[in-house]
Amino acid sequence: MTRITIAKGDGIGPEIMDATLRIILEAGAQLEIDEIEVGEKVYLSGNASGIAPESWDIIRRNKIFLKAPITTPQGGGYKSLNVSTRKFLGLYANIRPCRSYHPFIATKHPVMDVVIVRENEEDLYAGIEHQQTDEVVQCLKLISRPGCEKIIRYAFEFARQQGRKKVTCFTKDNIMKQTDGLFHQVFEEIAKEYPDIENEHWIVDIGAAKLADTPEAFDVLVMPNLYGDVLSDVAAQISGSVGLAGSANIGETCAMFEAIHGSAPRRAGQNLANPSGLLQAAIMMLNHVGQTQVAERVQNAWLTTIENGIHTYDIYKEGVSRKKVGTKEFADAVINNLGKMPQTLKAVSYHGKGALNLPRYTRKSPTPKALVGVDLFVHWRGTNPEELSNLLKALESEKAKLKLITNRGIKVYPDGFPETFCTDHWRCRFMPPSENGFDADEIIQLLLRARRAKIEVIKTENLYVFNGKPAFSAAQGQ
Ligand code: NAD
Repeated sequence: MTRITIAKGDGIGPEIMDATLRIILEAGAQLEIDEIEVGEKVYLSGNASGIAPESWDIIRRNKIFLKAPITTPQGGGYKSLNVSTRKFLGLYANIRPCRSYHPFIATKHPVMDVVIVRENEEDLYAGIEHQQTDEVVQCLKLISRPGCEKIIRYAFEFARQQGRKKVTCFTKDNIMKQTDGLFHQVFEEIAKEYPDIENEHWIVDIGAAKLADTPEAFDVLVMPNLYGDVLSDVAAQISGSVGLAGSANIGETCAMFEAIHGSAPRRAGQNLANPSGLLQAAIMMLNHVGQTQVAERVQNAWLTTIENGIHTYDIYKEGVSRKKVGTKEFADAVINNLGKMPQTLKAVSYHGKGALNLPRYTRKSPTPKALVGVDLFVHWRGTNPEELSNLLKALESEKAKLKLITNRGIKVYPDGFPETFCTDHWRCRFMPPSENGFDADEIIQLLLRARRAKIEVIKTENLYVFNGKPAFSAAQGQ
Protein backbone atom coordinates (compact mmCIF):
# COMPACT_ATOMS: atom_id res chain seq x y z
CA MET A 1 0.00 0.00 0.00
CA THR A 2 1.39 3.41 -0.97
CA ARG A 3 0.05 6.57 0.64
CA ILE A 4 -0.16 9.41 -1.86
CA THR A 5 -1.33 13.01 -1.96
CA ILE A 6 -3.64 14.19 -4.71
CA ALA A 7 -4.89 17.63 -5.74
CA LYS A 8 -7.83 17.92 -8.10
CA GLY A 9 -6.84 21.41 -9.24
CA ASP A 10 -8.98 23.71 -11.36
CA GLY A 11 -10.95 23.71 -14.61
CA ILE A 12 -11.09 20.18 -16.01
CA GLY A 13 -8.85 18.99 -13.12
CA PRO A 14 -11.53 17.39 -10.90
CA GLU A 15 -13.09 15.44 -13.81
CA ILE A 16 -9.83 14.05 -15.15
CA MET A 17 -8.61 13.24 -11.62
CA ASP A 18 -11.81 11.30 -10.83
CA ALA A 19 -11.53 9.37 -14.10
CA THR A 20 -7.84 8.61 -13.52
CA LEU A 21 -8.29 7.42 -9.93
CA ARG A 22 -11.26 5.25 -10.91
CA ILE A 23 -9.18 3.52 -13.62
CA ILE A 24 -6.06 2.86 -11.55
CA LEU A 25 -7.99 1.67 -8.49
CA GLU A 26 -10.05 -0.71 -10.66
CA ALA A 27 -6.76 -1.99 -12.09
CA GLY A 28 -5.61 -2.92 -8.60
CA ALA A 29 -3.46 0.03 -7.52
CA GLN A 30 -2.72 -0.24 -3.80
CA LEU A 31 -3.15 3.36 -2.74
CA GLU A 32 -4.22 5.28 0.33
CA ILE A 33 -5.19 8.75 -0.80
CA ASP A 34 -5.02 12.12 0.98
CA GLU A 35 -6.54 15.05 -0.88
CA ILE A 36 -5.30 18.63 -0.58
CA GLU A 37 -6.53 21.84 -2.14
CA VAL A 38 -4.21 23.84 -4.40
CA GLY A 39 -4.71 26.44 -7.11
CA GLU A 40 -7.13 29.21 -7.91
CA LYS A 41 -9.28 29.16 -4.76
CA VAL A 42 -6.20 29.12 -2.54
CA TYR A 43 -4.56 31.92 -4.53
CA LEU A 44 -7.71 34.06 -4.41
CA SER A 45 -8.11 33.49 -0.67
CA GLY A 46 -4.95 35.63 -0.33
CA ASN A 47 -2.27 32.94 -0.37
CA ALA A 48 0.25 34.05 -3.04
CA SER A 49 1.80 30.61 -3.37
CA GLY A 50 -1.47 28.75 -4.10
CA ILE A 51 -0.96 26.18 -1.36
CA ALA A 52 -1.51 26.19 2.42
CA PRO A 53 1.40 25.36 4.79
CA GLU A 54 -0.54 22.29 6.13
CA SER A 55 -0.72 20.96 2.55
CA TRP A 56 3.07 21.11 2.27
CA ASP A 57 3.21 18.94 5.40
CA ILE A 58 0.97 16.31 3.78
CA ILE A 59 2.94 16.34 0.51
CA ARG A 60 6.21 15.97 2.41
CA ARG A 61 4.86 13.18 4.64
CA ASN A 62 3.43 11.11 1.76
CA LYS A 63 6.23 11.98 -0.67
CA ILE A 64 4.21 11.02 -3.76
CA PHE A 65 2.01 13.74 -5.27
CA LEU A 66 -0.42 13.33 -8.18
CA LYS A 67 -1.50 16.79 -9.28
CA ALA A 68 -4.21 17.89 -11.71
CA PRO A 69 -3.64 21.15 -13.60
CA ILE A 70 -4.37 24.41 -11.87
CA THR A 71 -5.29 27.90 -13.01
CA THR A 72 -2.84 30.59 -11.97
CA PRO A 73 -4.80 33.86 -11.76
CA GLN A 74 -3.44 36.61 -14.03
CA GLY A 75 -1.43 39.46 -12.49
CA GLY A 76 -1.25 40.18 -8.75
CA GLY A 77 2.16 38.62 -8.10
CA TYR A 78 0.95 35.02 -7.74
CA LYS A 79 3.83 32.54 -7.62
CA SER A 80 3.78 29.52 -9.90
CA LEU A 81 2.97 26.47 -7.79
CA ASN A 82 4.77 24.22 -10.26
CA VAL A 83 8.03 26.13 -9.95
CA SER A 84 7.75 26.30 -6.13
CA THR A 85 7.02 22.57 -5.88
CA ARG A 86 9.96 21.68 -8.09
CA LYS A 87 12.39 23.91 -6.21
CA PHE A 88 11.23 23.35 -2.61
CA LEU A 89 11.07 19.59 -2.95
CA GLY A 90 14.32 19.30 -4.96
CA LEU A 91 12.62 17.55 -7.89
CA TYR A 92 15.76 17.23 -9.97
CA ALA A 93 14.45 15.09 -12.82
CA ASN A 94 11.71 15.85 -15.30
CA ILE A 95 10.60 12.80 -17.25
CA ARG A 96 8.49 13.15 -20.35
CA PRO A 97 7.64 10.14 -22.52
CA CYS A 98 6.68 11.08 -26.09
CA ARG A 99 5.13 8.29 -28.08
CA SER A 100 3.12 8.32 -31.28
CA TYR A 101 -0.07 6.29 -31.68
CA HIS A 102 -0.13 5.81 -35.43
CA PRO A 103 -2.49 5.17 -37.22
CA PHE A 104 -5.01 6.16 -34.54
CA ILE A 105 -3.62 9.65 -33.90
CA ALA A 106 -2.10 11.64 -36.79
CA THR A 107 1.70 12.03 -36.74
CA LYS A 108 4.58 12.33 -39.22
CA HIS A 109 6.56 9.88 -37.08
CA PRO A 110 4.63 6.63 -36.84
CA VAL A 111 7.18 4.64 -34.81
CA MET A 112 8.31 7.30 -32.37
CA ASP A 113 8.68 6.21 -28.73
CA VAL A 114 11.18 8.29 -26.78
CA VAL A 115 11.50 9.41 -23.17
CA ILE A 116 13.21 12.73 -22.43
CA VAL A 117 14.92 12.86 -19.04
CA ARG A 118 15.64 16.52 -18.34
CA GLU A 119 17.74 17.89 -15.49
CA ASN A 120 15.37 20.19 -13.66
CA GLU A 121 17.28 22.34 -11.15
CA GLU A 122 20.48 23.80 -12.50
CA ASP A 123 22.21 24.85 -15.76
CA LEU A 124 21.14 28.34 -16.92
CA TYR A 125 17.96 28.02 -14.82
CA ALA A 126 19.63 28.74 -11.48
CA GLY A 127 18.41 32.30 -12.10
CA ILE A 128 21.76 33.96 -11.36
CA GLU A 129 21.95 36.93 -13.72
CA HIS A 130 23.78 40.26 -13.55
CA GLN A 131 24.32 43.34 -15.65
CA GLN A 132 28.04 44.03 -15.37
CA THR A 133 28.80 46.88 -17.75
CA ASP A 134 26.80 49.25 -19.97
CA GLU A 135 26.95 46.72 -22.76
CA VAL A 136 27.12 43.27 -21.15
CA VAL A 137 24.80 41.12 -19.04
CA GLN A 138 25.56 37.62 -17.84
CA CYS A 139 23.67 34.46 -16.82
CA LEU A 140 25.65 31.89 -14.87
CA LYS A 141 25.49 28.33 -16.10
CA LEU A 142 25.96 26.07 -13.09
CA ILE A 143 26.43 22.34 -13.53
CA SER A 144 27.23 20.23 -10.47
CA ARG A 145 28.57 16.71 -10.11
CA PRO A 146 25.66 15.67 -7.83
CA GLY A 147 23.24 17.18 -10.37
CA CYS A 148 24.82 15.18 -13.21
CA GLU A 149 25.12 11.94 -11.25
CA LYS A 150 21.51 12.02 -10.06
CA ILE A 151 19.92 12.76 -13.42
CA ILE A 152 22.11 10.38 -15.42
CA ARG A 153 21.65 7.53 -12.95
CA TYR A 154 17.93 8.19 -13.08
CA ALA A 155 17.97 7.85 -16.88
CA PHE A 156 19.76 4.48 -16.75
CA GLU A 157 17.63 3.12 -13.88
CA PHE A 158 14.48 4.20 -15.70
CA ALA A 159 15.67 2.54 -18.91
CA ARG A 160 16.38 -0.69 -17.05
CA GLN A 161 13.04 -0.70 -15.23
CA GLN A 162 11.14 -0.03 -18.45
CA GLY A 163 13.05 -2.62 -20.46
CA ARG A 164 14.43 0.06 -22.76
CA LYS A 165 17.60 -0.56 -24.73
CA LYS A 166 19.54 2.66 -25.07
CA VAL A 167 20.31 5.93 -23.28
CA THR A 168 21.52 8.88 -25.38
CA CYS A 169 23.15 11.97 -23.88
CA PHE A 170 23.00 15.40 -25.59
CA THR A 171 25.50 18.14 -24.66
CA LYS A 172 27.50 20.90 -26.31
CA ASP A 173 30.82 19.91 -24.74
CA ASN A 174 32.83 20.79 -27.83
CA ILE A 175 32.19 24.41 -26.81
CA MET A 176 31.41 24.26 -23.06
CA LYS A 177 34.24 22.00 -22.00
CA GLN A 178 33.85 22.52 -18.25
CA THR A 179 30.06 22.53 -17.76
CA ASP A 180 28.72 20.30 -20.53
CA GLY A 181 32.09 18.52 -20.36
CA LEU A 182 31.28 17.44 -16.79
CA PHE A 183 27.81 16.24 -17.80
CA HIS A 184 29.30 14.16 -20.62
CA GLN A 185 32.09 12.80 -18.42
CA VAL A 186 29.64 11.70 -15.69
CA PHE A 187 27.50 10.10 -18.40
CA GLU A 188 30.50 8.00 -19.52
CA GLU A 189 31.26 7.02 -15.90
CA ILE A 190 27.72 5.95 -15.02
CA ALA A 191 27.09 4.21 -18.36
CA LYS A 192 29.81 1.71 -17.37
CA GLU A 193 27.63 0.54 -14.47
CA TYR A 194 24.88 -0.46 -16.93
CA PRO A 195 26.53 -2.80 -19.45
CA ASP A 196 23.08 -4.18 -20.38
CA ILE A 197 22.02 -0.78 -21.77
CA GLU A 198 23.52 0.75 -24.90
CA ASN A 199 24.80 4.31 -24.52
CA GLU A 200 25.79 7.10 -26.91
CA HIS A 201 26.52 10.82 -26.90
CA TRP A 202 25.52 13.40 -29.52
CA ILE A 203 26.37 17.07 -29.79
CA VAL A 204 23.00 18.69 -29.06
CA ASP A 205 22.61 20.61 -32.34
CA ILE A 206 22.91 17.64 -34.66
CA GLY A 207 21.20 15.43 -32.07
CA ALA A 208 18.20 17.78 -32.00
CA ALA A 209 18.04 17.79 -35.80
CA LYS A 210 18.10 13.99 -35.83
CA LEU A 211 15.42 13.83 -33.11
CA ALA A 212 13.11 16.10 -35.09
CA ASP A 213 13.73 14.16 -38.30
CA THR A 214 14.18 10.53 -37.19
CA PRO A 215 12.92 10.18 -33.61
CA GLU A 216 12.80 6.39 -33.99
CA ALA A 217 16.63 6.45 -33.74
CA PHE A 218 16.31 7.29 -30.03
CA ASP A 219 14.99 5.58 -26.92
CA VAL A 220 15.78 7.33 -23.59
CA LEU A 221 17.44 10.77 -23.86
CA VAL A 222 19.16 12.56 -20.98
CA MET A 223 20.30 16.18 -21.08
CA PRO A 224 20.92 19.38 -19.12
CA ASN A 225 18.01 21.66 -18.27
CA LEU A 226 17.91 24.11 -21.20
CA TYR A 227 18.28 21.53 -23.99
CA GLY A 228 15.73 19.34 -22.19
CA ASP A 229 13.23 22.18 -21.87
CA VAL A 230 13.36 22.92 -25.59
CA LEU A 231 13.58 19.37 -26.88
CA SER A 232 10.88 17.87 -24.65
CA ASP A 233 8.40 20.29 -26.23
CA VAL A 234 9.68 19.50 -29.72
CA ALA A 235 9.39 15.77 -29.02
CA ALA A 236 5.87 16.05 -27.55
CA GLN A 237 4.70 18.15 -30.48
CA ILE A 238 6.06 15.90 -33.24
CA SER A 239 4.66 12.78 -31.59
CA GLY A 240 1.29 14.34 -32.44
CA SER A 241 -0.09 13.89 -28.94
CA VAL A 242 0.71 16.84 -26.67
CA GLY A 243 -2.70 16.45 -25.03
CA LEU A 244 -1.99 12.83 -24.13
CA ALA A 245 1.35 13.29 -22.44
CA GLY A 246 2.13 13.00 -18.73
CA SER A 247 5.27 14.02 -16.95
CA ALA A 248 7.04 13.16 -13.74
CA ASN A 249 9.14 15.41 -11.53
CA ILE A 250 11.38 13.29 -9.35
CA GLY A 251 13.45 14.20 -6.29
CA GLU A 252 15.54 12.24 -3.78
CA THR A 253 12.62 11.97 -1.37
CA CYS A 254 9.53 13.34 -3.12
CA ALA A 255 8.00 13.08 -6.59
CA MET A 256 5.20 14.90 -8.41
CA PHE A 257 3.24 13.54 -11.37
CA GLU A 258 1.03 15.60 -13.70
CA ALA A 259 -0.35 16.00 -17.21
CA ILE A 260 1.58 18.44 -19.38
CA HIS A 261 -1.54 20.34 -20.45
CA GLY A 262 -3.28 23.07 -18.43
CA SER A 263 -6.67 23.39 -16.75
CA ALA A 264 -8.60 24.11 -19.99
CA PRO A 265 -11.19 26.27 -18.15
CA ARG A 266 -13.49 26.55 -21.19
CA ARG A 267 -14.02 22.77 -21.18
CA ALA A 268 -14.56 22.47 -17.44
CA GLY A 269 -17.60 20.72 -15.96
CA GLN A 270 -18.93 19.40 -19.28
CA ASN A 271 -17.68 15.81 -19.22
CA LEU A 272 -15.62 16.61 -22.33
CA ALA A 273 -11.97 16.56 -21.21
CA ASN A 274 -9.55 13.82 -22.13
CA PRO A 275 -8.14 12.26 -18.94
CA SER A 276 -5.26 10.56 -20.79
CA GLY A 277 -2.48 13.04 -19.87
CA LEU A 278 -3.16 12.65 -16.15
CA LEU A 279 -3.63 8.90 -16.58
CA GLN A 280 -0.19 8.69 -18.22
CA ALA A 281 1.20 10.61 -15.24
CA ALA A 282 -0.50 8.14 -12.88
CA ILE A 283 1.05 5.22 -14.79
CA MET A 284 4.48 6.81 -14.26
CA MET A 285 3.64 7.19 -10.57
CA LEU A 286 2.73 3.50 -10.27
CA ASN A 287 6.00 2.54 -11.95
CA HIS A 288 7.90 4.89 -9.66
CA VAL A 289 6.53 3.25 -6.50
CA GLY A 290 7.12 -0.23 -7.85
CA GLN A 291 3.50 -1.13 -8.71
CA THR A 292 4.70 -1.97 -12.20
CA GLN A 293 2.20 -4.77 -12.86
CA VAL A 294 -0.71 -2.40 -12.31
CA ALA A 295 0.99 0.29 -14.41
CA GLU A 296 1.39 -2.19 -17.25
CA ARG A 297 -2.24 -3.35 -16.99
CA VAL A 298 -3.53 0.23 -17.16
CA GLN A 299 -1.25 1.19 -20.05
CA ASN A 300 -2.24 -1.80 -22.18
CA ALA A 301 -5.96 -1.19 -21.47
CA TRP A 302 -5.54 2.46 -22.44
CA LEU A 303 -3.70 1.54 -25.68
CA THR A 304 -6.50 -0.91 -26.48
CA THR A 305 -9.09 1.85 -25.96
CA ILE A 306 -7.18 4.24 -28.24
CA GLU A 307 -6.87 1.65 -31.00
CA ASN A 308 -10.54 0.68 -30.62
CA GLY A 309 -11.29 4.25 -31.71
CA ILE A 310 -13.01 5.26 -28.46
CA HIS A 311 -11.89 8.88 -28.43
CA THR A 312 -12.68 12.11 -26.59
CA TYR A 313 -13.47 15.18 -28.72
CA ASP A 314 -9.87 16.47 -28.83
CA ILE A 315 -8.53 13.41 -30.67
CA TYR A 316 -11.74 12.32 -32.41
CA LYS A 317 -11.34 12.18 -36.18
CA GLU A 318 -14.00 11.11 -38.68
CA GLY A 319 -12.89 7.95 -40.50
CA VAL A 320 -10.30 6.99 -37.86
CA SER A 321 -12.25 7.15 -34.60
CA ARG A 322 -15.26 4.91 -33.96
CA LYS A 323 -17.04 6.68 -31.13
CA LYS A 324 -16.87 10.13 -29.58
CA VAL A 325 -17.14 9.83 -25.81
CA GLY A 326 -16.99 12.02 -22.72
CA THR A 327 -14.53 11.85 -19.83
CA LYS A 328 -16.57 9.32 -17.80
CA GLU A 329 -17.34 7.05 -20.76
CA PHE A 330 -13.68 7.07 -21.81
CA ALA A 331 -12.72 5.95 -18.29
CA ASP A 332 -15.42 3.23 -18.43
CA ALA A 333 -13.98 1.98 -21.74
CA VAL A 334 -10.45 1.79 -20.29
CA ILE A 335 -11.78 -0.09 -17.25
CA ASN A 336 -13.59 -2.52 -19.58
CA ASN A 337 -10.31 -3.14 -21.40
CA LEU A 338 -8.29 -3.97 -18.28
CA GLY A 339 -6.57 -7.29 -18.98
CA LYS A 340 -6.67 -6.79 -22.77
CA MET A 341 -3.64 -6.22 -24.98
CA PRO A 342 -3.53 -3.83 -27.93
CA GLN A 343 -3.29 -5.54 -31.33
CA THR A 344 -1.83 -2.83 -33.60
CA LEU A 345 -0.10 -0.54 -31.11
CA LYS A 346 2.88 -2.07 -29.33
CA ALA A 347 1.88 -3.41 -25.92
CA VAL A 348 4.08 -2.34 -23.01
CA SER A 349 5.89 -4.55 -20.59
CA TYR A 350 7.33 -3.02 -17.45
CA HIS A 351 9.20 -6.20 -16.56
CA GLY A 352 8.01 -6.30 -12.96
CA LYS A 353 11.39 -5.02 -11.82
CA GLY A 354 10.06 -2.98 -8.91
CA ALA A 355 10.95 0.51 -7.76
CA LEU A 356 13.94 2.37 -9.18
CA ASN A 357 17.19 2.02 -7.30
CA LEU A 358 18.24 5.62 -6.69
CA PRO A 359 20.91 5.91 -4.01
CA ARG A 360 21.36 9.27 -2.30
CA TYR A 361 24.33 11.22 -3.60
CA THR A 362 27.38 10.82 -1.42
CA ARG A 363 29.97 13.57 -1.54
CA LYS A 364 33.38 12.45 -2.88
CA SER A 365 36.64 13.15 -1.04
CA PRO A 366 38.12 16.53 -2.01
CA THR A 367 40.36 16.80 -5.08
CA PRO A 368 43.81 18.40 -4.64
CA LYS A 369 43.37 22.00 -5.77
CA ALA A 370 45.80 24.90 -6.32
CA LEU A 371 45.22 28.57 -7.08
CA VAL A 372 47.32 29.51 -10.12
CA GLY A 373 46.02 32.90 -11.19
CA VAL A 374 43.02 35.19 -11.52
CA ASP A 375 40.81 36.67 -14.20
CA LEU A 376 39.87 40.28 -13.51
CA PHE A 377 36.76 41.33 -15.44
CA VAL A 378 37.05 45.01 -16.21
CA HIS A 379 34.52 47.62 -17.36
CA TRP A 380 36.55 49.82 -19.73
CA ARG A 381 35.11 52.07 -22.41
CA GLY A 382 38.18 52.24 -24.66
CA THR A 383 38.48 50.28 -27.87
CA ASN A 384 42.17 49.50 -28.28
CA PRO A 385 43.31 46.42 -26.30
CA GLU A 386 46.96 47.54 -26.49
CA GLU A 387 45.99 50.68 -24.59
CA LEU A 388 44.21 48.59 -21.92
CA SER A 389 47.21 46.26 -21.67
CA ASN A 390 49.43 49.25 -20.85
CA LEU A 391 47.07 50.31 -18.05
CA LEU A 392 47.00 46.76 -16.69
CA LYS A 393 50.76 46.24 -16.87
CA ALA A 394 51.07 49.03 -14.34
CA LEU A 395 49.24 46.69 -11.90
CA GLU A 396 51.71 43.83 -12.30
CA SER A 397 53.85 42.44 -9.48
CA GLU A 398 56.54 39.75 -9.40
CA LYS A 399 53.91 37.07 -8.95
CA ALA A 400 51.09 38.47 -11.08
CA LYS A 401 51.85 39.19 -14.72
CA LEU A 402 49.28 40.10 -17.36
CA LYS A 403 48.94 36.98 -19.50
CA LEU A 404 46.12 37.81 -21.86
CA ILE A 405 43.04 39.90 -22.43
CA THR A 406 39.87 38.56 -24.03
CA ASN A 407 36.66 40.25 -25.10
CA ARG A 408 33.59 37.97 -25.09
CA GLY A 409 36.02 35.06 -24.92
CA ILE A 410 38.13 36.04 -27.95
CA LYS A 411 41.79 36.80 -27.35
CA VAL A 412 42.53 40.43 -28.17
CA TYR A 413 45.90 40.75 -26.40
CA PRO A 414 48.65 39.78 -27.12
CA ASP A 415 48.49 39.45 -30.90
CA GLY A 416 44.79 40.21 -31.37
CA PHE A 417 43.19 40.98 -34.72
CA PRO A 418 42.16 44.62 -35.30
CA GLU A 419 38.99 43.26 -36.94
CA THR A 420 37.68 41.71 -33.66
CA PHE A 421 34.69 43.65 -32.35
CA CYS A 422 35.14 44.68 -28.73
CA THR A 423 32.54 45.58 -26.09
CA ASP A 424 33.19 47.40 -22.81
CA HIS A 425 33.65 44.07 -20.92
CA TRP A 426 37.24 42.73 -20.74
CA ARG A 427 38.62 39.60 -19.13
CA CYS A 428 42.19 40.23 -18.00
CA ARG A 429 44.17 37.19 -16.89
CA PHE A 430 46.99 37.52 -14.36
CA MET A 431 49.26 34.58 -13.61
CA PRO A 432 52.71 34.15 -12.05
CA PRO A 433 55.63 33.77 -14.50
CA SER A 434 56.24 30.20 -13.23
CA GLU A 435 53.57 27.70 -12.05
CA ASN A 436 54.07 28.34 -8.33
CA GLY A 437 53.82 31.13 -5.90
CA PHE A 438 50.36 32.57 -6.51
CA ASP A 439 48.00 33.04 -3.59
CA ALA A 440 44.82 34.84 -2.60
CA ASP A 441 46.79 37.81 -1.18
CA GLU A 442 47.96 38.55 -4.73
CA ILE A 443 44.35 38.95 -5.83
CA ILE A 444 43.61 41.41 -3.04
CA GLN A 445 46.75 43.41 -3.86
CA LEU A 446 45.85 43.44 -7.56
CA LEU A 447 42.36 44.72 -6.74
CA LEU A 448 43.79 47.48 -4.54
CA ARG A 449 46.20 48.58 -7.26
CA ALA A 450 43.40 48.52 -9.83
CA ARG A 451 41.24 50.69 -7.56
CA ARG A 452 44.03 53.23 -7.12
CA ALA A 453 44.59 53.30 -10.88
CA LYS A 454 40.81 53.89 -11.36
CA ILE A 455 40.35 50.64 -13.31
CA GLU A 456 36.86 49.30 -12.57
CA VAL A 457 36.94 45.57 -11.80
CA ILE A 458 33.37 44.26 -11.93
CA LYS A 459 34.18 40.70 -10.98
CA THR A 460 37.05 38.29 -10.37
CA GLU A 461 37.26 34.60 -11.11
CA ASN A 462 39.94 32.47 -9.45
CA LEU A 463 41.93 30.15 -11.70
CA TYR A 464 42.42 26.68 -10.23
CA VAL A 465 44.25 23.53 -11.12
CA PHE A 466 42.41 20.41 -9.91
CA ASN A 467 44.43 17.20 -9.71
CA GLY A 468 47.18 18.91 -11.69
CA LYS A 469 44.83 19.81 -14.57
CA PRO A 470 43.88 23.42 -15.42
CA ALA A 471 40.14 23.79 -14.67
CA PHE A 472 39.36 26.98 -16.59
CA SER A 473 38.82 27.79 -20.21
CA ALA A 474 41.62 28.96 -22.46
CA ALA A 475 40.75 31.92 -24.68
CA GLN A 476 39.50 31.30 -28.21
CA GLY A 477 42.59 31.87 -30.33
CA GLN A 478 44.97 31.11 -27.45
P1 NAD B 1 -4.46 24.32 -21.71
O1 NAD B 1 -3.52 23.17 -21.83
O2 NAD B 1 -5.32 24.35 -20.50
O3 NAD B 1 -5.38 24.34 -22.99
C1 NAD B 1 -4.88 24.41 -24.34
C2 NAD B 1 -5.93 23.83 -25.30
O4 NAD B 1 -5.96 22.41 -25.17
C3 NAD B 1 -7.35 24.30 -25.04
O5 NAD B 1 -8.03 24.39 -26.27
C4 NAD B 1 -7.95 23.20 -24.21
O6 NAD B 1 -9.35 23.11 -24.32
C5 NAD B 1 -7.27 21.95 -24.76
N1 NAD B 1 -7.06 20.92 -23.75
C6 NAD B 1 -6.10 20.91 -22.77
N2 NAD B 1 -6.20 19.82 -22.04
C7 NAD B 1 -7.21 19.09 -22.55
C8 NAD B 1 -7.78 17.82 -22.21
N3 NAD B 1 -7.31 17.10 -21.18
N4 NAD B 1 -8.83 17.39 -22.93
C9 NAD B 1 -9.30 18.11 -23.94
N5 NAD B 1 -8.81 19.28 -24.32
C10 NAD B 1 -7.77 19.79 -23.63
O7 NAD B 1 -3.57 25.64 -21.80
P2 NAD B 1 -3.97 27.17 -21.59
O8 NAD B 1 -5.32 27.43 -22.16
O9 NAD B 1 -2.81 27.93 -22.08
O10 NAD B 1 -4.01 27.37 -20.01
C11 NAD B 1 -5.20 27.33 -19.22
C12 NAD B 1 -4.82 27.43 -17.74
O11 NAD B 1 -4.02 26.31 -17.36
C13 NAD B 1 -3.99 28.68 -17.38
O12 NAD B 1 -4.47 29.21 -16.17
C14 NAD B 1 -2.61 28.14 -17.18
O13 NAD B 1 -1.87 28.90 -16.23
C15 NAD B 1 -2.88 26.76 -16.63
N6 NAD B 1 -1.79 25.77 -16.83
C16 NAD B 1 -1.56 24.93 -15.78
C17 NAD B 1 -0.60 23.96 -15.90
C18 NAD B 1 -0.35 23.06 -14.72
O14 NAD B 1 -1.01 23.17 -13.72
N7 NAD B 1 0.59 22.16 -14.82
C19 NAD B 1 0.11 23.80 -17.10
C20 NAD B 1 -0.18 24.64 -18.19
C21 NAD B 1 -1.15 25.62 -18.04
